[in-house]
Amino acid sequence: MQTTLSNGISMPLLGLGVYDMNAQEAINATRFALETGYRLIDTAAMYNNETEIGQAIIESQIPRNELFITTKVDDADQGFEKTLKAYNESLKKLKLDYVDLYLVHWPLKATRKGTWLALEKLYAEGQVRAIGVANYLEPFLDELKEYATILPALNQVEFSPYLYLETLLNRCKSDGIQLQAFSPLLRGLKFNDPKLIEIANKYGKSPAQIIIRWALQIGISTIPKSSNPVRIKENFDVFNFEISTEDILKMNSLNENLRIVDDPISLL
Ligand code: NAP
Repeated sequence: MQTTLSNGISMPLLGLGVYDMNAQEAINATRFALETGYRLIDTAAMYNNETEIGQAIIESQIPRNELFITTKVDDADQGFEKTLKAYNESLKKLKLDYVDLYLVHWPLKATRKGTWLALEKLYAEGQVRAIGVANYLEPFLDELKEYATILPALNQVEFSPYLYLETLLNRCKSDGIQLQAFSPLLRGLKFNDPKLIEIANKYGKSPAQIIIRWALQIGISTIPKSSNPVRIKENFDVFNFEISTEDILKMNSLNENLRIVDDPISLL
């Protein structure tokens, strides 16, 4: 399943998140995911594993243009000049000529404007295929609109049935910004919820699979993390069934505004 970003480029909706994977674990997980069929990998300078992701990409021997690689500006590298430098550092570590999507990792008050303007420069120069943001709730998008020449192609935020940000989803849809769910599985926190299990059982799928499929069906990109081969496969085995509209609505109503990562609104 692919989506077309606002600038016309194609991106897989489902990818592998590689937060909290280090050294050989990151290489093994990324290689296995690529063998399984994943083509979107979501890393970040902050994850300290760009070198390993680059290594796994080389080892996979998959043509570069079949892959979609996302990385993000580290908080410490924010600001116009520092971001330009950081992008080159990321490229070096990833052993790539370009990344497909470069994101502002967090909307830091003092530096987010300069950081975004640097991303626009990289994009205008053709150094990156698409640029976007992460953790931009509506007020951050409002502010960005005041100085941005182009809107982000994508906004990566914490999003799950238990954090169903409907207003943000609709806002992004109307602005042509692809929403992408991080921590989509809530790191397993809700896998024992009987309401979730009931829906998953109905389709003969696991709680993780039903959550991933739900995101895809409502048009959200999702990047579950696993470094376990069985679960990497399980999370990709979501293309052979369809959740009914009624059950999608049931899943939307599981919302509890439950976050497992810091609420970005504190950065306003
Ligand atoms: P997540 O994907 O919601 O959950 C990952 C956890 O769930 C891991 O402990 C994993 O363990 C386990 N898991 C994965 N698949 C499973 C399955 N089928 N059954 C049971 N357990 C399973 O959490 P996340 O890593 O926070 O989020 C995903 C990605 O989003 C990150 O890797 C990162 O790329 C991105 N992210 C971005 C931001 C941001 O600020 N932009 C913040 C957080 C995350 P195993 O590895 O042992 O399978």
